[in-house]
Amino acid sequence: MSFSAKQIERYSRQIILKKVGVIGQRKLLNSKVLVVGAGGLGSPIAMYLAASGIGTIGIVDNDRVEISNIQRQILFNSNDIKKNKSIVAANKLKQINPNLNIINFKKKIDKKNIDKIAKKFDVLADGSDNFKTRFLINDYCLKNRKILVVGAISKFDGHIYTFNFLKKSSPCLRCFMHTIPKNDRDNCEYDGVLGPLAGIIGSIQANEIIKEILKIGDSLCGYILIIDALKLTFRKVKLTKRSNCYCNEQNK
Ligand SMILES: [Zn+2]
Repeated sequence: MSFSAKQIERYSRQIILKKVGVIGQRKLLNSKVLVVGAGGLGSPIAMYLAASGIGTIGIVDNDRVEISNIQRQILFNSNDIKKNKSIVAANKLKQINPNLNIINFKKKIDKKNIDKIAKKFDVLADGSDNFKTRFLINDYCLKNRKILVVGAISKFDGHIYTFNFLKKSSPCLRCFMHTIPKNDRDNCEYDGVLGPLAGIIGSIQANEIIKEILKIGDSLCGYILIIDALKLTFRKVKLTKRSNCYCNEQNK
């Protein structure tokens, strides 16, 4: 399938990049990414993925927009308060790029529905706000050999992890944290978070997703990126596969 003149114009700044080109742009248009959580991270992730031309984007969230969300959840404005996030998000993404297949799931992802929701997607972007959900998504992606890019933010700090479960050598989230912490809660709600930090972490997640799809640059898989927005330091720390981790059992 060839590009229309309009598509070439829309994606011209990416197509001109040697590492993307027409073939890369076609790959993006053929890829399917599921964004879990239309919040502080999910907003920039989904917006950049839509703008870049990821052909199929799913967005899962069961919450409604609250006024306290708008400080960092840039998919929403003050007129969206009380509306369902996944519906508003899908409409916004269609406005950014009307040619995409945008699927909204007005649901809270859980053990029972994750397979039905995530099955058709190649890559999952985790923008959830608790470890119970992060572990559920980690285990699902590991079992079903999908690529997973996780982001987490609290106060002035952010973490990003990439797990490429197409490779058996990939560590998993449980290699970093063995079990769900006792105090598993939405850090943004209880500890606060600086608005633009959500933009920084979510934008890097979108960048890593595109890199993984195109297989360009250095993969973050095997590392954690730790960002301190106050000191403005970016540290890439090695994350090795733990020998007695769940992921090793799965790969046997
Ligand atoms: Zn592991």
